Amino acid sequence: MSFSFVPRVMAKKLTDVTPAFLISRDIKVLLCDLDNTISLKRHAVPPEKVMQWANELGSAGIEIIIFSNNRHGRARKTAGQLGVRCLERVGKPRIGGFLEAEKLTGVTRGRMALAGDQIFTDVLGANRADVTSIWVEPINHRAPHLWLRFLVERIVVALSILFGGCNYEKL
Ligand SMILES: [Mg+2]
Repeated sequence: MSFSFVPRVMAKKLTDVTPAFLISRDIKVLLCDLDNTISLKRHAVPPEKVMQWANELGSAGIEIIIFSNNRHGRARKTAGQLGVRCLERVGKPRIGGFLEAEKLTGVTRGRMALAGDQIFTDVLGANRADVTSIWVEPINHRAPHLWLRFLVERIVVALSILFGGCNYEKL
């Protein structure tokens, strides 16, 4: 368990996380944040490109689980659209949800990755749970409140790298 704000992997967008990359890291399960990672807030239907990407992952034998703190049932709707399973109200950055994912899939956390747009929930939670953390830029970081959060997160990550000397890679 490590308390770190530094993602192991950084990607511009979710679809940059390719089956080939995940296979090269021996990842069998990709936990996926919902809001601003798969789709915009309040949108239950994911973009066409994401649907296609999800199919490719499925064909490569990698299971996607929607892994959301959301408590309004939207994760289930999106999961239905993508044909994948979901866990809601997972309470990231606590590690309970990750243990639940382990039980649900029978795959150990060492063979899971989590892709998400927030440092203080997604990345911190995955790092604490020893799950490979993949930070993707929020879909809409131009909205004023998201832009500010994104800026603060970037500063925290940069300072953590500077003072903690953590390794990360870019996709
Ligand atoms: Mg999010």
